[in-house]
Amino acid sequence: MKQHHPENDPQYKGLTVNEGVASPPVVNPYWHARRKRQTFSPAEYTEQIRKGNITVLSQAVTLLESQLPEHQAIAQEVIEKCLAYSGHSVRIGITGVPGAGKSTSIDAFGMHLIHERQKKLAVLAIDPSSERSKGSILGDKTRMEELSREPNAFIRPSPSAGSLGGVARKTRETIILCEAAGFDTIFVETVGVGQSETAVHSMVDFFLLIQLAGTGDELQGIKRGIMEMADGIVVNKADGNNIDKANLAAAQYRNALHLFPLPPSGWSPKVMTYSGYYKLGIREVWDSVYEYIDYTKQNGYFDFRRNSQSKYWMYESINEQLKNHFYQSPVIAKTLVQKEQQVLNSEISSFQAAKQMLDLYFNH
Ligand code: GDP
Repeated sequence: MKQHHPENDPQYKGLTVNEGVASPPVVNPYWHARRKRQTFSPAEYTEQIRKGNITVLSQAVTLLESQLPEHQAIAQEVIEKCLAYSGHSVRIGITGVPGAGKSTSIDAFGMHLIHERQKKLAVLAIDPSSERSKGSILGDKTRMEELSREPNAFIRPSPSAGSLGGVARKTRETIILCEAAGFDTIFVETVGVGQSETAVHSMVDFFLLIQLAGTGDELQGIKRGIMEMADGIVVNKADGNNIDKANLAAAQYRNALHLFPLPPSGWSPKVMTYSGYYKLGIREVWDSVYEYIDYTKQNGYFDFRRNSQSKYWMYESINEQLKNHFYQSPVIAKTLVQKEQQVLNSEISSFQAAKQMLDLYFNH
């Protein structure tokens, strides 16, 4: 529409004002207010997860990691519904000290499994320290460059909230959701320091320990407990002029393993060398893992281990929730510090204090 400018009136000789163009709208007409994240009913979550919808799977895992009771309620219902479709995967725990090459190896293992063995892989992590270190060091997509671009891989960093028990429980529940979404291979990564190995061991079919050669103190450095848990030990970085050292380390681990009794699976763990970075020996490592799976499926240990794990998690879950209920109870929260002080002042013994707190909890 042509606009009238008073400056164009004949009285303003010598001054004309161009018509100009209409200024564009301030608001982009193509812009739609970002829709609020869609929320689903538990049945809808389950249906989408079953269809392999990764976005919905991620959302369900987020709910499951949430502390909000209403999120927990939905998540628990989704887990219940997905349970019937879970269990059909091979669950593998992967541990190693920082720098052992876990992320490099998981990247290489994952690409091998997806492309050579047509698997769908979910990579989860248990890292109870992540809350302290602000930002998980495990299960981080940027550490697994190739896998993170794979449509058949789902990578999820460690849940960060809470105790090891809480973090581990959430990871175990995430396994159920991933299996229902069609992932037939689950990795659970953990860092080889501390208690988290036990938690991972309690939720996997095969526990793989990644070791390093060339530190010169292989045997001294062995954490007996972790070695006893391992179903396979692999020495990484067997490449370049490190090959001899890697072979030597492998021989030392083999000798050390001979000192341990045969594990209840009846399978004596193999020690192998490989290079995650140069992708050498990867196939052999996985041949050995699947050999173990076949072996234990045949001798019944596979089911036995899963059943024991289900039992373990039932009791763990009871313990965890009882503990939370106790500490979150207002009457306990009010008195606990005071009682602690009495113990520190030697006014009362630790046991007496514990008994009084429990009496208070049960009788209030
Ligand atoms: P993580 O801390 O256990 O996850 O270890 P990373 O995967 O981050 O690896 C630690 C370092 O070792 C990185 O600099 C890698 O490039 C290197 N690395 C990992 N795997 C290999 C390997 O097979 N050979 C060699 N030479 N280096 C490797």
